[in-house]
Amino acid sequence: MVRKIAILGSTGSIGRNALRVIDALGPDYKVVALTGHSNVELLAEQSRRFLPDFIGITDPSKAGELKERLGGAGGRILAGPESMTEIAALDDVDIVITAVVGAAGLEAVLEAAKKPKVLAIANKEPLVIAGELLTATAKENGATILPVDSEHSAIFQALQAGNADEVNKIILTASGGPFRKATAEQIEKVTVKEALAHPTWSMGPKITVDSATMMNKALEVIEAVWLFDTPVEKIDVLIHPESIIHSMVEFVDGSVIAQMSPPDMCLPIQYALTYPRRLEGISSHIDFGKMGSLTFEEPDRSIFRALDLGFEVARMGGSAPVVFNAANEAAVEEFLAGRIKFVKIVELIEHCLNIHDIKSKMSLDELLEADRWARGQVHERLRALERIG
Ligand code: NAD
Ligand code: MG
Repeated sequence: MVRKIAILGSTGSIGRNALRVIDALGPDYKVVALTGHSNVELLAEQSRRFLPDFIGITDPSKAGELKERLGGAGGRILAGPESMTEIAALDDVDIVITAVVGAAGLEAVLEAAKKPKVLAIANKEPLVIAGELLTATAKENGATILPVDSEHSAIFQALQAGNADEVNKIILTASGGPFRKATAEQIEKVTVKEALAHPTWSMGPKITVDSATMMNKALEVIEAVWLFDTPVEKIDVLIHPESIIHSMVEFVDGSVIAQMSPPDMCLPIQYALTYPRRLEGISSHIDFGKMGSLTFEEPDRSIFRALDLGFEVARMGGSAPVVFNAANEAAVEEFLAGRIKFVKIVELIEHCLNIHDIKSKMSLDELLEADRWARGQVHERLRALERIG
């Protein structure tokens, strides 16, 4: 049976890898919809190559250029952010790969969860913001959420070795990013270029900065809470610089199951598409004889303060993760634009959490309101700091 796939965010790092995987899987996997935000050239090229029925361009000002570039080739063009929700809701889509960056993917992924589809989720921010709403919606409507994030794919694979009530601990591994060995003084002077130079993974700019602050791992702790319905107390973070073990599960008898593969997102993407089967793929295999040693260390929590904040926010729940994520998105944007220092990112997140009154049991509108509030507070704080000079 042919599996019909929509990719939200096909022009990004995950999106491009997803297309490589689908291409290699052959005719049983068919792309029926693609969306991109602003890279019209690549979206047009992908559309000519994969001939989807629908092409979403979320930045509406680019719709004209896309139409021109396609010159009638490819499918129907949908413009604006709503194009993602329209595509996510299509009955004719079996698998929705969510590969958009940030909270922008929230409404579309919630829409996809209202039908009995497979949601292959790379876009972790919606799970952080609306984990409760999203998992409940999926459960109610028979949608299956499968992780694409490499750590969560590893945990999902390891969990198959036992029963849920036999799990003692989930050990999320982290590469430690480019500043694993840096001192507090060195971190003060970090440049955008240095933050974007990840030692083991090639990814989009936002998640690469998140890896450098270890916000990525903090978001992944919250992501794991929702994906595996697990208390945050059962989650540990361990630095593993080689990025070969993508995470581990320790069972009550002391047995630890680890998933290993070279650092390449094509494998977790493919597993979410072919699950419960495994097929040959395009990812390279480990050559243990040539690999050398695998090492582990504790994260430096005094330098990477985002990590403990993530655990605290997971315990607080309600609107805390929304503020945590939105403040980070706004701060990372400022950092990437060269307007703030690297260390300011986590300071701004802490500031927003400190002045926020947590709400629980929130509707989608309330979640979006808390998200807007936190982004506003980041900019407000930066203006105030500028006035003080
Ligand atoms: P990226 O920046 O390379 O790509 C982002 C995609 O989102 C692009 O297709 C872009 O067009 C689209 N987009 C950007 N802004 C948008 C908006 N406002 N509205 C709609 N679409 C928009 O990012 P990426 O590295 O591919 O990451 C995508 C998601 O996957 C993130 O949530 C990230 O945390 C997660 N993830 C990525 C990796 C990786 O290896 N890249 C690994 C694990 C998880
Ligand atoms: Mg990850």
